[in-house]
Amino acid sequence: MSGGNSLQLQDAVNDICPWSGKPVSADSLTLYRGSVVGFCNTGCRDKFAKAVSDFDQALLQHERSGKD
Ligand SMILES: [Zn+2]
Repeated sequence: MSGGNSLQLQDAVNDICPWSGKPVSADSLTLYRGSVVGFCNTGCRDKFAKAVSDFDQALLQHERSGKD
């Protein structure tokens, strides 16, 4: 329980990688909105992480430009 990277496979909300349909791997977990989500490999996980961060930035800019 030391360090910030103690995600557990059994805590993942999904069993199957959304990109490939393969079973999720214990070394390919990340947090999304406070929940653990899993992928079949770190490449799939990083693709998801990049998509989420891109959406987060787009939403921030959208909110800023929308509220005037
Ligand atoms: Zn995958």
